[in-house]
Amino acid sequence: MRVSEQRGARLLERVLAGVPSGENPLRHARELPERAATPVPWPSWVPEELRSRFASCGIDAPWAHQVAAAEHAWAGRHVVISTGTASGKSLAYQLPVLTTLAERPKATALYLSPTKALGADQLRALSAFCAADVRPAAYDGDTPMPERDWVRAHSRWVFSNPDMLHRGILPAHAKWAQFFRRLAYVVVDECHGYRGVFGSHVALLLRRLRRVARRYGSDPVFVLASATVSDPAESASLLTGVPCEAVTEDASPRGARTVALWEPPLLPELAGENGAPVRRSAGAETARILTDLVVEGARTLAFVRSRRGAELTALSARQALSHVDASLPERVAAYRAGFLPEERRALEQALASGSLLGVASTNALELGVDIAGLDAVVVAGYPGTLASFWQQAGRAGRAGDSALVVFVARDDPLDTYLVHNPSAVLDKPIEATVIDPANPYVLAPQLACAAAELPVTEACLPSFGPVAAVRRVLSDLVADGALRRRPTGWFWTSRERPHASVDIRGSGGEQVAVVEGDSGRMLGTVDFGSAFTSVHEGAVYLHQGTSYVVDELDLSSGLALVHREDPEWTTQPREVVDIAVLSTETSRSFDAVSVCLGEVAVTSHVVGYLRRLPTGEVLDQVPLDLPSQTLRTRAVWYTVPPSVLSAAGVPKADVPGALHAAEHAAIGLLPLFATCDRWDIGGVSTAMHPDTGEATVFVHDGHPGGAGFADRAHAALVPWLTATRDAIAACECPAGCPSCVQSPKCGNGNEPLDKAGAVAILTAVLDAVTAERPAA
Ligand SMILES: [Zn+2]
Ligand SMILES: [Zn+2]
Repeated sequence: MRVSEQRGARLLERVLAGVPSGENPLRHARELPERAATPVPWPSWVPEELRSRFASCGIDAPWAHQVAAAEHAWAGRHVVISTGTASGKSLAYQLPVLTTLAERPKATALYLSPTKALGADQLRALSAFCAADVRPAAYDGDTPMPERDWVRAHSRWVFSNPDMLHRGILPAHAKWAQFFRRLAYVVVDECHGYRGVFGSHVALLLRRLRRVARRYGSDPVFVLASATVSDPAESASLLTGVPCEAVTEDASPRGARTVALWEPPLLPELAGENGAPVRRSAGAETARILTDLVVEGARTLAFVRSRRGAELTALSARQALSHVDASLPERVAAYRAGFLPEERRALEQALASGSLLGVASTNALELGVDIAGLDAVVVAGYPGTLASFWQQAGRAGRAGDSALVVFVARDDPLDTYLVHNPSAVLDKPIEATVIDPANPYVLAPQLACAAAELPVTEACLPSFGPVAAVRRVLSDLVADGALRRRPTGWFWTSRERPHASVDIRGSGGEQVAVVEGDSGRMLGTVDFGSAFTSVHEGAVYLHQGTSYVVDELDLSSGLALVHREDPEWTTQPREVVDIAVLSTETSRSFDAVSVCLGEVAVTSHVVGYLRRLPTGEVLDQVPLDLPSQTLRTRAVWYTVPPSVLSAAGVPKADVPGALHAAEHAAIGLLPLFATCDRWDIGGVSTAMHPDTGEATVFVHDGHPGGAGFADRAHAALVPWLTATRDAIAACECPAGCPSCVQSPKCGNGNEPLDKAGAVAILTAVLDAVTAERPAA
């Protein structure tokens, strides 16, 4: 074996050598072997001229997966290519699109990406080898007005994003008639990014796009690019509404990698909430690892969740390095969203050349930026999805040269589970992308937009989803006066189009603007539904790493006024939450335990907030006088009768704490099975629920109408609850901590919680659900 091939393992040894004695943070290490490339000949239909353009950019032969996907698209089949970071997915769509644009001099194509930055990168790369008459151009929020007319009239490959398609292109489709008439391809890049409510909106937006294209006589082929996900064909078909082929066999070369799973130690000298032990923070641990790697001369990228965290990590690595060698601190920097493009590029070049050795970054680097082949990547805290994790890890390693990837767990049940269950990170297919285009709260505004573009006819109902559901939403829109029913279909009648008021990235509801009182500067917006918990009077509000305190929440004007202040405490709302079952869609009984899925009404009432010091100590509780709010959404729930509770050995007095702990951990683990954030979902547990008559744990979607998360939880119930139980059991704390059953968003101040009782109840529920039952 060549020395360079052992580089990853050697770097890990060095990092381990720097661990203080008595600490044992390494939970697992695995070698991932090198993969050789599989180049194949160019497809016969790719013109010679295009081949030589690619060759002049250093691409002599395509890889097998690129050609497999290109062949599908060329033959007119919708296709998704789902392979790893830096596997050259762009070529898969460039081949058929550029060949078609060369052969049919008036044909057009549309490229969509979730972020403007990625679109700009792809456009820049394409310009290097594309024929002059393609005139590729961006059409997004940054395109100056005078240029927009030119793009519409002349560009044959338009680079845009869902937001602009929704607000700018589809509502004005008549102006784009020429473009739509000849639309041959629609490229949907990074399509795994379309999930939850946003993904559901994009799914309906793509159906609107197809409907408009058909109106002008075209039927474009969809080419989707995705990170590796499970069931890419199914996800792509749900997103586009058309059946898609999938190409998943990655034929690009990859260097060997050593992956280490790392759990920072408990710090016995500190006490957190309710006396729980706390761990050294993932950021502090990452700074230490980064320091050791920079000393070794390894080019290292550390991914940290927040901007402030990235800056602190870089700062403390620089401080530590100044004790080693005075020249080293300046070779470490922080990188975050919000940098100017030239600052970004300078930093990327410095890292590529090795003049910069360590960079601590937020996820800003995650998409489309050309940094790869590094010696090491440190991921501080699970980035939310396995797809993101592998995308970040994919920045390390190149052919013939092994690299190190360290995943550092945060104080969180999901991270705890992952470092204790390596196969969940290293052997598991990536979680399914969850969307729910049938959600009436998404369907209604989308159908209003569709009707304003072209009347909705009977014939086009199936393209929007299950016909009965679509019809129901349409008649609600008619009843509200938004649409008018005529013999030929449903019509939008107002002069003003609905598009501007439909926010495809939000939850669809009203927004509260957060405004700095003195300057009048708007800092951001929060959903109306979460305003009471995040920007109530007295709340500490963080915006891009700067701390503000809310002076006033004025709901009638939709304003939260804040001033800049960095108090020593944080605030945590206290909330009383009730849940009512509106309808039960499915109910399964396993002996005495039952598991249900249905619609619920979640009523929450913020009654006050706690002011808390960083040590967890509570300064005081401040009462608030706010109205209650009700959310209609979807939930999964299970009920546990007294006989099962007592057989599990949970005394009656401990039942509320045990259920509450099981609920918290289940919410923490769900992102492993559904592409959601723990802030996208909520839960309620009670020892006696009036609607079920028994002890019940509910986990519900946090968005009106649901985003598919509860449905996914119901479908993955057994693996989900198994992981929940294992995560709690694996935590070494005595009676509950943030790594297992405490939740940062608990409205009850994390009380009561019973860690042992939660394990016992989850075990009993799983035993019942998985038991082989004799045939009746
Ligand atoms: Zn714990
Ligand atoms: Zn709670």
